[in-house]
Amino acid sequence: MPMGLSLDFTSQCCGHTWLTQLTQFSNLLPDKHLLNEEESTVQTTNPDISQRSNAARTAVLEGELRVRRENATPVTPKTMRAAVVDKFRQPLQIREVPVPSPGPGQALVKIIATGVCHTDLHAADGDWPVKPTPPFIPGHEGAGVVVKLGPGVTHLKEGDRVGIAWLHSACGHCEFCFSGWETLCPAQQNSGYSVNGSFAEFALARADFLGRIPEALSFVDAGPILCAGVTTYKGLKETEARPGEWVVISGVGGLGHIAIQYAKAMGLRVAAVDVGKEKLELARKLGAEVTADAASEDPAREIQQATGGAHGVLVTAVSPIAFKQAVGMLRRRGTCVLVGLPPGEFPVSIFDVVLNRYTLRGSIVGTRKDLEEALAFAAQGKVKATIEQFPLDSINEVLARLKQGKVNGRVVLNMAHS
Ligand code: NAD
Ligand code: ZN
Ligand code: ZN
Repeated sequence: MPMGLSLDFTSQCCGHTWLTQLTQFSNLLPDKHLLNEEESTVQTTNPDISQRSNAARTAVLEGELRVRRENATPVTPKTMRAAVVDKFRQPLQIREVPVPSPGPGQALVKIIATGVCHTDLHAADGDWPVKPTPPFIPGHEGAGVVVKLGPGVTHLKEGDRVGIAWLHSACGHCEFCFSGWETLCPAQQNSGYSVNGSFAEFALARADFLGRIPEALSFVDAGPILCAGVTTYKGLKETEARPGEWVVISGVGGLGHIAIQYAKAMGLRVAAVDVGKEKLELARKLGAEVTADAASEDPAREIQQATGGAHGVLVTAVSPIAFKQAVGMLRRRGTCVLVGLPPGEFPVSIFDVVLNRYTLRGSIVGTRKDLEEALAFAAQGKVKATIEQFPLDSINEVLARLKQGKVNGRVVLNMAHS
């Protein structure tokens, strides 16, 4: 125990008063979560203390807390609240689970805010061909601070502002890791899928794969950039569209509404497609010049008429039909980038792809470098997610709304509200 503070609180005559004072002090401290649970039983080594006046006791206690805070390594509680998937397609359970301890190369991150991605819904439903193994904690847009480092981590320190993204780790020595394609590493781990993620008060990260959150960016605003931002920023690069050319963003959800902003910041002209008026209104507000409602129109024909055919299409939609329609929006020599991941297939006309020299390509999140760039756009104010904040306890309600297509922008779970 640091600072030799070891008195047994219950042996003090005015124990109750002291505990009240202590609680008040800990509430005044800037970040009570960084303090050890010992805080709640902190005592003084000074045996005369119980004889002193209230004011004197208060001063001693406050001083001791301050000294402890300045000298002791921040320590974490033993348990934390987390949203756990116990069974696919069942409500997540909010419960106390052990706080993990960082091993070599790992960092423990105190989560302050975490975005909710549609991928978390796929994970909780287990609807992809490769499934996670319950019980697990989803979440891969986790923004917070480092509270503990495992052995061998030298480039981070406690208190650093960091982000947990989908790419939890990659091997570092396969042909993909070697060539700047770590997102394709066959040995990669994924936050909130193959390892526990950020729907919790704390999460373990592979220190080398943590993003750095710029000072200018709040934790809440950083959350959606950690997946929706980096994925669409990278996906837009993969369309190879040049400034002044047209891109279509198909699906104006969490990913799509951020994609529109990256596209504008990259000097592209933007058309947007979704089902429903509200989404298209948001798209126009964020800078889309053309919008088409796939529920009521033939979106491919609309886009062809309005743009002459798009140089690039980025599909973030969660419906397979949107992928078929997206190919029909391309200009000759255009590139369709597939990012949305609804389970299923879609038909492609071989004739159209060959004769028009279309490129169809998948894209999965982004590298650490892409993430750094994506965060920089956000820190400069060029990209800002439209955010609704909820506490962790609302996770099931949030996932239900996401499934119904009723989230306009992104939901961020604010752990301070939990
Ligand atoms: P979201 O639910 O916020 O948005 C999906 C949007 O698609 C909604 O606005 C919905 O109305 C729209 N949509 C539904 N049917 C449509 C149609 N026929 N045409 C046009 N739009 C339609 O989801 P999100 O968080 O933005 O994620 C989208 C998808 O991207 C998910 O499948 C997710 O798993 C995937 N994803 C992939 C990557 C990657 O790296 N490839 C990364 C993150 C998410
Ligand atoms: Zn995601
Ligand atoms: Zn690798």
